[in-house]
Parts: sequence; structure tokens; C-alpha cells
Amino acid sequence: MTFAFGVLRGGGVCARVDDTVVDLSGLDPLFKGPSLNGLMAAGPDAWRQARERAGEGRDAAVAELGMPVEPADYVDFYSSLHHATNVGRMFRPDAEPLLPNWRHLPVGYHGRAGTVVPSGTPVRRPSGQRPGPAFGPSERLDIELEAGFVIGTPSTQGEPVPIERALDHVFGMLLVNDWSARDIQAWEYQPLGPFLAKSFATSISHWVVPLDELADRRVPAEPQDPEPLEYLREEPWAYDIPLEVELNGTVIARSNTRHLYWSIAQQIAHLTVNGASLRTGDLLATGTISGPEREERGCLLELSWNGEEPVQLDDGSTRTFLEDGDEVALRGEPLGEVRGRIEPATGG
Ligand code: MN
Repeated sequence: MTFAFGVLRGGGVCARVDDTVVDLSGLDPLFKGPSLNGLMAAGPDAWRQARERAGEGRDAAVAELGMPVEPADYVDFYSSLHHATNVGRMFRPDAEPLLPNWRHLPVGYHGRAGTVVPSGTPVRRPSGQRPGPAFGPSERLDIELEAGFVIGTPSTQGEPVPIERALDHVFGMLLVNDWSARDIQAWEYQPLGPFLAKSFATSISHWVVPLDELADRRVPAEPQDPEPLEYLREEPWAYDIPLEVELNGTVIARSNTRHLYWSIAQQIAHLTVNGASLRTGDLLATGTISGPEREERGCLLELSWNGEEPVQLDDGSTRTFLEDGDEVALRGEPLGEVRGRIEPATGG
């Protein structure tokens, strides 16, 4: 059986039990809110009780779903070895593909929580500065196939979360599409990292799968080389969740969360090691998840190798980057899917 929590459009906690949507909003004041944040803040005992009470809910025959969580902070990591290596090969062909820090810490950046949107929300093509400089609608709009974790129980500022306690803070997992404007990114990212190239929209799936439900997806991972510093050290593991990217009805990539080098526990230990605290609703995304094979690349930048090798779609057309009207769906059971359609730039 697969189980996940969500929120009905207009408010109220619901659950997905296999293919049935159950309305839990009448059972407890904790389930009435506009998002899952109330339940998430109540802690692991409340999460398990909510799970057990799902059978008491009402069948929601036609369920329109809303935004599952109210994101507090949004952090996006860069935890796929193959993605980081491919990007390094494309942009620094004469150097080592991985920067010297990559195997020592989970690289990440703070994103924009206020523009995280639920699956199905149209995404307007951003305008901005690109190399030249020139200004106009992005000509290199991309997807990023990612998973994300949402924080339930907060931590105390000034107190790092030890790696062996990190998962206690995690409410659940979902799918993330971290839309990215590669031309804007290329011009703005040095020296402080992504800014407007990624802040215009980030889409998340409607369903959040509790970590308990993913216990049988945990698999051992390859040893990390070199061994990380003490605060990041644990038995290597990953989740085995197959993923796919569909563009206008054609599956253009298949990947798997087991290709991630850094675990969510390591990401949390690193994020808090300076004393930064976790807040209920924090969204921690993995970064683009690419595998070793060509068809396992999790973004168009890699799939088209920086625009040089167009991707073939079933309708006979090709893509290097996204066109207006393109419809993207990222999928991965038991997480569900996250969809979005590209709308023309304002005035475009
Ligand atoms: Mn990303």
C-alpha cells in the first residue's frame, strides 16, 4: 500500500491511500489548516497517529489538491555526482570536472521559498539579463529533476543537528522541478551562485510521503571517497526511487534517487553545522538527479549537452531547451508527479 499526505484546494489535510483520496479535515483541529505545516510542527507521534486515523476519513470523490506545505526556507543542494560532473565537463572542459570541495561537503544555495508553487501551476517564461549583456525572455529555459524533503520538527538555533538525529526532523519526501533559466544563470552566477535564474518558480508535487513509508526503499550506497569529515560520516545509503521526465508526452529521461552522492541526513548535518536552525516547512531539495548513462540525465542542459545535441520527441519535433506551451511531468512512485506548462514571457 502506498500512503501520502496532501492538502485539499481550499484547505484541509487529506491522505492518499493507494489510489483513494481521503478527507481527514473533520477528524481533528490539526487537520483543518491551509497546509500540512500544523501537522508537521506537531512531531513524529502526531504524524504516526494521523497515519493510523486515515481509515476514519471521508472518501473525497473528486479531490482538487492544493499547495501541501507552506515553505519556510528553501535550500537546493547539488548532490548528484553525475550531474555535477557533466556540468563541470561542459563549462570547464580543460579542468577537473568536479571542483575541489565537491566530495567534501554537500554544495547548496539558499533559494526563494515564496515562489514555490504546487504541481499544475503554469510557469511563465522569465525575462532577464543574459551574456552580452542583453535583456529579454530566457532562451534557455530548463527543467531540473529533483526530489525534496520537508522539515517537520524544528531545531534550536546555535545547536547543530547531529547526523544520527537528522532524520527525526524530516516529515516527508516529495518531487521538485527546479525550473532554471540557463542563459540568465550563466551571466549572473559568479561569484555568489544562482539568483534570478532559479527564483521565478519552483514546482513541488501535491503529495508528501512520510519517511516511515519509504523504509523499504532504503538501500546501501557506494562508499564515499574520500571519507567525509566526522560530522558528515554515516553508513552510505540512498533511497531507491525510479524517476522519469516526460516532455509533451515523450519520456526523455529516466533516473533514480539512488544516484545521489550525499544523503538527506548529511545535507541536514551540513546545513546546521554552523548553528543555523531548521524551521517547520523548510524545503531541502537534492539538486538535479542524473545517473551515469546518457538517458539518465535529469535536465535539458545535460540531455542536449549544452544545446549541441537536440532531444527527439515522439511528435517529430526536437528540443534543446523548453518552448512556450511545453508540458513537463516529473514522476516517481511512490512520490507521484509534478507537472507544469510553460507560458510565454510577459509581453512576449
Ligand atoms: Mn536545482
